[in-house]
Amino acid sequence: MPYSLLPHNTFGIDATCDEFLEYHSEAECLEIAQRLADGHTPWLPIGAGSNLLFLSRHYGGCVVHNAIKGIECVEEDDEKIVLRVGGGEVWDDVVACCTQRGWHGLENLSLIPGETGAAAVQNIGAYGAEVADHIVKVEGVYICPEVTTAVLNHDECHYGYRQSIFKQELKDVFLVTRVWLRLSKHFTPHLSHKAIAGKLMAMGISPQQATALQMREAIISIRQEKLPDPKQTGNAGSFFMNPVVPTALAGSIMAKYPDMPHYDAGTGEGRPLVKIPAAWLIEQCGWKGKNLGRAGVNPRQPLVLTNLGGASGNDIAALATTLQHDVKEKFGIELHPEVRYIL
Ligand SMILES: Cc1cc2nc3c(=O)[nH]c(=O)nc-3n(C[C@H](O)[C@H](O)[C@H](O)COP(=O)(O)OP(=O)(O)OC[C@H]3O[C@@H](n4cnc5c(N)ncnc54)[C@H](O)[C@@H]3O)c2cc1C
Repeated sequence: MPYSLLPHNTFGIDATCDEFLEYHSEAECLEIAQRLADGHTPWLPIGAGSNLLFLSRHYGGCVVHNAIKGIECVEEDDEKIVLRVGGGEVWDDVVACCTQRGWHGLENLSLIPGETGAAAVQNIGAYGAEVADHIVKVEGVYICPEVTTAVLNHDECHYGYRQSIFKQELKDVFLVTRVWLRLSKHFTPHLSHKAIAGKLMAMGISPQQATALQMREAIISIRQEKLPDPKQTGNAGSFFMNPVVPTALAGSIMAKYPDMPHYDAGTGEGRPLVKIPAAWLIEQCGWKGKNLGRAGVNPRQPLVLTNLGGASGNDIAALATTLQHDVKEKFGIELHPEVRYIL
């Protein structure tokens, strides 16, 4: 009997899979890993499915979900605390708990959907913060070349912009079980994103004086104004990564579009690089608020593609391909999906 994945993906794609397995402990994770290790059954690790796009109506394999809960303190002094968090904990519950208890650093990552294990896979980020800055280590289970538990320290996770070893070499060979986070007992508001200070002032709060709880409230309010709620409108947040291009290419575009937003992105292969908001590129191509069949481009945030009701994964992918084509043709820039396509 096919298992419905409708409650397991925020795009609201009505897909099914052969089997759905959940692990609540390391022992259960090892058992599942032993079963899958023969390589006969395709398998897919998922969290809350908030960054997945199921292309087919049926995934012919086993979907594996981490349901390990718990937040335990493993180290503490006057300055900091180190927490060992079950990968199945809802990410925003962890942020809420830490903010309330006076353990700081995660406030700007409030209200990001999904679970803690996936947060460490994705290196989630928002409003000038990234979870990698707080990750001490990640525990998990290798499924191949042989089934074994492992702990990767921060440097071994190879974190970058929305990147980690779990999305590269260890993709679908490693199941995350728990994540260790180091947080500070002192709060300093992280105000690098201009929208935050504006929101705090609109709330009647001086940005530099904001408390951690006020900061979390401001971030939640900004996100609720800007992003569609997946419970109302199927979506997976930012569909594409913001492209990073050589300064020379950005300069040639700016000769024609002097108002193009752009941010310094360091250097790559000895060349200075610039990050350009993908939302701006999509908007310039005239797609903001438009749709292709049942797949839409959000009118407030064009980086978010939506299921207008009854869209298939292929409908969403067709819209994404069209946007990639139009942006490439107009600006010579490749857009790469942040969302993971599942065949
Ligand atoms: C409205 C909305 C807003 C969003 N805003 C942001 C944002 O501001 N910043 C941001 O970074 N992201 C954002 N996202 C994307 C998404 O929330 C993150 O990518 C999140 O970390 C995905 O978590 P998940 O539990 O849903 O993982 P899933 O989507 O289920 O999986 C994500 C990836 O992790 C892998 N994975 C999941 N669990 C495990 C595990 N236990 N072991 C190994 N691999 C695993 C999956 O195979 C997949 O490759 C947003 C999404 C939505 C819908």
